[in-house]
Amino acid sequence: MASMRTGEALTLAALQTWAQYHEVAIERVESWDVVVHRAEEVRADGTRHRRLYRETFPPVIAIKRRANTFTVEAVHEPAGAQCFHVRVITPRLSGGELVDPGYLAELVAVARIQRKCRARCGATAENLRVLTTERTYSAHRPSDWKG
Ligand SMILES: [Zn+2]
Repeated sequence: MASMRTGEALTLAALQTWAQYHEVAIERVESWDVVVHRAEEVRADGTRHRRLYRETFPPVIAIKRRANTFTVEAVHEPAGAQCFHVRVITPRLSGGELVDPGYLAELVAVARIQRKCRARCGATAENLRVLTTERTYSAHRPSDWKG
């Protein structure tokens, strides 16, 4: 049974150096309060080593991002069967906010689903239909706060 070991890098630069040394790519996973940069390498003995660097958003920005986080549900029908995809998206808003953040979240969700799932189930930006787009966190429920 292969095991996984996780370590935290102190800086993004340190993570980049580590990833370069091991010739692995850095993946960027973003949520409303934090961006996690992570890279993983598999050693000859099968052990997986994962290294992370967390970048937290300042509270003022995090609160705004949280309010504009959407759960997008989309569906497409490969060979007559329905295939559902759900993504939680925090769109990156520009200062002006001329675009409806919910619409922006839909565009990002569909693009991400296509990128991750096209090879597996054939989801594309063209055949995906958005069913619902809802704010993930209700402003009236403090219990939603992660801490
Ligand atoms: Zn699908």
